[in-house]
Amino acid sequence: MTLCFQFAPLYAEPGRRFVFYNPSMSTSLSRRGFAGLLAAGAIAGASGCGSEPPEPEQAASKPLKIIDPHVHVWVNDPAYPWPEENKNPPKEDATAEMLLDLMATHGVVHTVIVHPFHYRWDCRYVGDVMKKYPDKFQGVCRVNPEARDAADELSKWTEEWGFKGVRLSPSVSEVGNWITNNELMDPIWDRAEQLGVPMLILTKTGRLPDVQKHIEKHPDMDVVIDHMADCKTTDPPEELQKLLTLATFPRVYCKISHTWSISDEPYPHRDTWDQVKTVYDAFGPNRIMWGTDWPVSKRKIDYVKTLEIVRDEMDFFNDEDLEWILSKTIERLWPFPEAA
Ligand SMILES: [Zn+2]
Repeated sequence: MTLCFQFAPLYAEPGRRFVFYNPSMSTSLSRRGFAGLLAAGAIAGASGCGSEPPEPEQAASKPLKIIDPHVHVWVNDPAYPWPEENKNPPKEDATAEMLLDLMATHGVVHTVIVHPFHYRWDCRYVGDVMKKYPDKFQGVCRVNPEARDAADELSKWTEEWGFKGVRLSPSVSEVGNWITNNELMDPIWDRAEQLGVPMLILTKTGRLPDVQKHIEKHPDMDVVIDHMADCKTTDPPEELQKLLTLATFPRVYCKISHTWSISDEPYPHRDTWDQVKTVYDAFGPNRIMWGTDWPVSKRKIDYVKTLEIVRDEMDFFNDEDLEWILSKTIERLWPFPEAA
């Protein structure tokens, strides 16, 4: 097959940088790769079909490695019963195998699974998934922040089950006031620091000053603020500033995910781009990361679109930035062994 046939289906749409029709190439080429093809005349050659074009492997640069740092999985299975207090467990499954299919289709080589709250503090399903697919997944556990044995639970999930990381989710209402209770918080934060595992924070900007106090006391641990603390672009500037202030702590990271959630516009959610750019400027590419938040995100956006918005749409990221945002930043916290 000649190159003109191989690349004939390549086309561009208004509002999108480019689209790969060929599914086998749909996620493996970076924008640099596309530019490389253009520079090599591959696309022009496709229309002319006159001379022998270069091999696409030679024309394209190295494919982007893609690791997803944020998904959830669960299954309706008596082996993993829903807890009593969860009166409305999910009826639809979101299993590891469903996720593996999505990853294979879209070129995502590894994923970090964040234990879903449906199970409350029983992280066994994610733990078993990690054991079953150790080359594909790592996991972040949860512990009950109001339990006196929370630190020991964190040790258990880390040392016996192989989790790497713990997530706390203080709400901004008084229900989340436990984040200000040092008797509860110090043991958990101290233990995470001792274990060398990252702390993930799911909250809104109003709680970030409370979180900051713990960050100040634990300069030697990695902390990840999930989803830009869901700061809305319509929030007062001081709200975003609470997030940007955390960039002054060198081991604080930020997920630039959830643009689909904070936007008032359809895809590609351009009303959120200034905020993403501001976060990028504050943290730098080696402390920000994308994330699908599948399957939570799928009510608003397809799995692959959460990748495409960062990789193909946000034009203020250069190719080196994308290497960090799509994998290298994530590997700083969750290094995966290279595939054999
Ligand atoms: Zn999530």
